[in-house]
Amino acid sequence: MNIPEPDNAVSVSEIQLPSPRNYIDGSFSEPASAPGPLLHDPNTGGVLQDQRVSDGEQIADALAAVDKAYRVGAWEEYSPAERAQVLELIADRLAAPEYAEKMALADALTTGTAIRVTRLMASLVPFVFRGAAAYIRGGELQQMLPGKAGEVEYFRKPWGPSLLISPWNGPTAIGSHKIASALAAGAPCILKPSEWTPHSALIMAEVIAELDLPRGTFQLVCGNGKTGATMVEDPRIRAISFTGGIAGGQAIASATAGRFVPLQLELGGNNPLVVMADADLDAAAEGIVYGLTNLNAQWCRALGRLLVHRSVKDDLLEIVVDKLRNVKMGHSLDETSDMGPLIHKDHYQLVQSEIDRLQSLGGNLISATPLPDLSGYFIAPTLVDGCTPEQSLGEIFGPVACIHTFDTEEEALVLANGTAYGLAAYVYSKDEQRARVFARRIRCGGVKINGFSLLALSGVAPRGAWGVSGLGEEGTRQSIDFFTGARVVGVSPQDVIGGSGAP
Ligand code: NAD
Repeated sequence: MNIPEPDNAVSVSEIQLPSPRNYIDGSFSEPASAPGPLLHDPNTGGVLQDQRVSDGEQIADALAAVDKAYRVGAWEEYSPAERAQVLELIADRLAAPEYAEKMALADALTTGTAIRVTRLMASLVPFVFRGAAAYIRGGELQQMLPGKAGEVEYFRKPWGPSLLISPWNGPTAIGSHKIASALAAGAPCILKPSEWTPHSALIMAEVIAELDLPRGTFQLVCGNGKTGATMVEDPRIRAISFTGGIAGGQAIASATAGRFVPLQLELGGNNPLVVMADADLDAAAEGIVYGLTNLNAQWCRALGRLLVHRSVKDDLLEIVVDKLRNVKMGHSLDETSDMGPLIHKDHYQLVQSEIDRLQSLGGNLISATPLPDLSGYFIAPTLVDGCTPEQSLGEIFGPVACIHTFDTEEEALVLANGTAYGLAAYVYSKDEQRARVFARRIRCGGVKINGFSLLALSGVAPRGAWGVSGLGEEGTRQSIDFFTGARVVGVSPQDVIGGSGAP
């Protein structure tokens, strides 16, 4: 293995990428099956390690343990305050620089996302656990409500053994949110991280293992889509939180339909950014570049389609090209990189084939970012002009977006609502009130006005998904509630037989 070192700061050879391991029924073990595809350093193509997959016996052990943990009910019986205390301990430990930095380095090295971004994401992990703790400390899972014959107890209780399946992009942020939410709900759970990025999950498992929770409360099972599907199909699994592509979401919905398993499906997006005629073009250009570069646009809320008023298109594109020229594309571990490579060769080829397809349909490629002198999977952020809206309906999941023009707001709205997705949208106009009116009509989970950020609009607002972008909402409250069902206990009112008492 001969991997060139980046010029700045961290060097690849210093990174101890943990080998994929399972945490099943209270013990760590190596996933037993023969390795699948190799994990490569996306910066250089150099081999990093084997991709390891659990075998049937390990999966069966994990399912038996999560089921037993639920039947014993020890974790569920912890009071919300006791569970909150555990979540806060996890937060404290994961805030320690050695863990946060390990997760950030692993994510940057395995996904190609720039280290500055993965550090930001790792730094948010403790807040995710603390937020879940604060929510359940607030008494939301156990309340007294007025009833017809005295007070009624209203509980939210875990549905049962829960399965958490995360994707390769944002593995630390997505994995931590799922773990914190399931544990806060009192649900014993199994996390199956992506086969491409199991490392930060392993670091979180190491921290949780030290806390000696009741056996089977938290487990980690490494593996691929088949591993996930095997667990999805098991009748002992009573709730599934999945983040990934539409195909996986559809497979899970089909496999569980007969069991009525509650599903939280966070799928893809093809997110429009609308630039009105009166927009601050510099700010809009900044947003476009951010949407094409942040997380290397391997991000469900990345820029999908640029919708621009015809009168400002040329001026806008001029500014965008200027800004793209100054994007520093480089090694993902280089502190000065704005953007790194795509995760792996197959994904690189997929994104490249989309560019080729759009170009073959008459698309004109607009791209100005210099590629680094590295042999990895780099694709410069690219806008494609000249294709029809019907030719850009899917999710590319890379730094490529089509440009479409409009003359009226009604046309812009039709374009914005013109795909089957409905995750995120962005609107730029100097008239904030007008932008709000327009934004309210976009059928998607969240619309940001005059800005493009990795962070949610509000820490307490739900993150919704419309159309094929998913099912169910995410958020501290929403995700904890997702793992629970309502149970109401109280003394019954007495019906008056033959009387006229209202129900
Ligand atoms: P993917 O669907 O290929 O895999 C996601 C996870 O599901 C992996 O752990 C994989 O092993 C597992 N999996 C795949 N098929 C499965 C099946 N049939 N049953 C059970 N598990 C299965 O997605 P990916 O390539 O890892 O991630 C990229 C996709 O995720 C993109 O489409 C992106 O938009 C989406 N995503 C959505 C959000 C969101 O919040 N909406 C966030 C991040 C990523």
